[in-house]
Amino acid sequence: MALIDSFGRSITYLRVSVTDRCNMRCLYCRVGDERLSVESRELLTLEELTRLIRIFSLLGIEKIRITGGEPLLRKNLVGLVQDLTVIPGIREVSLSTNALLLERFADSLKQAGLRRVNVSLDSLNADTFAKVTRGGRLEVVLQGIHAAVVAGLNPVKVNMVVMRGVNDEEIPAMVAFARGHGLVLRFIETMPIGEAGLRMDQCYMSAAEILDRVQASIGEDHVLKTGNQPVGNGPANYFYYMESGTTIGIISAKSRNFCETCNRMRLTSRGELVFCLGNMGRMDLKGPMRSGVDDDYLRRMVVQAVQQKPQGHMFQDEDNHRALHVMSGLGG
Ligand code: SAM
Repeated sequence: MALIDSFGRSITYLRVSVTDRCNMRCLYCRVGDERLSVESRELLTLEELTRLIRIFSLLGIEKIRITGGEPLLRKNLVGLVQDLTVIPGIREVSLSTNALLLERFADSLKQAGLRRVNVSLDSLNADTFAKVTRGGRLEVVLQGIHAAVVAGLNPVKVNMVVMRGVNDEEIPAMVAFARGHGLVLRFIETMPIGEAGLRMDQCYMSAAEILDRVQASIGEDHVLKTGNQPVGNGPANYFYYMESGTTIGIISAKSRNFCETCNRMRLTSRGELVFCLGNMGRMDLKGPMRSGVDDDYLRRMVVQAVQQKPQGHMFQDEDNHRALHVMSGLGG
């Protein structure tokens, strides 16, 4: 069975937030003083999550990305990975993390069946890093990235949200870092999501300008080429290959959206299915599940939800994105 939305897009990818909590407070994600901790009974239990993902897999979801908040703060995440990787139909389970706890968990995650990992890394300068993350320790994150590589997670992708006047001067350093460590590097346009994203919109730098900076940093002799994404859930990225073999992606969610090929939905840690990152539409699955409905009922709810997926995001509408949840609640 395939999940096809009303615009003919096939939905095969689910991003699953396992917690709203985070041990960083990045400038573009949080305004800083929000209280985001969710009562634990509000969170889907790991059993409920596994049940829902089994239902999703029967409907054609093949790939799961575990995210948050910071997913490594969720108790027994390794056990969840183990349970999800053995669900027939789930071809891949991956993780987005800030890597503060990755050194501790990289090996056991790999053994549990995790294939690959995306790490947020917005600066290689300890002071800038601490400023952007409001207190994050760069050296701990770098140890986490190293542990992921040693554990054999592959690829390890590093994501940098580029902010003019904050970290844009570090584009060349980031390219050199990725090249030196065999990492896939992705630059992300700042997105106007939630109050924090809206504030950081003043630092927005377009994908085209980021690309120019990358080209300038590697010199005229090394031509960037367009290519296919090596491993990933697409369709978000435009990738460029350097002669060195380094892969660089640029996620241009704002300047050149990729809604027409969107293949994803999001499940929040509270059990709501979110149809689109840039719209408010969502459907509560936890309530019905806790009131005792059977799998077939939930399956029909998901099929209906997919029909409500909008054609595109509404980043151009300020009221809409102000009203959006912060990314950490959406499973960014
Ligand atoms: N804690 C994990 C991490 O750090 O990767 C997972 C959650 S975090 C919300 C996932 C990603 O959301 C981060 O890599 C960050 O780049 C992205 N993100 C959050 N808010 C954003 C914004 N306003 N613009 C662009 N990217 C954003």
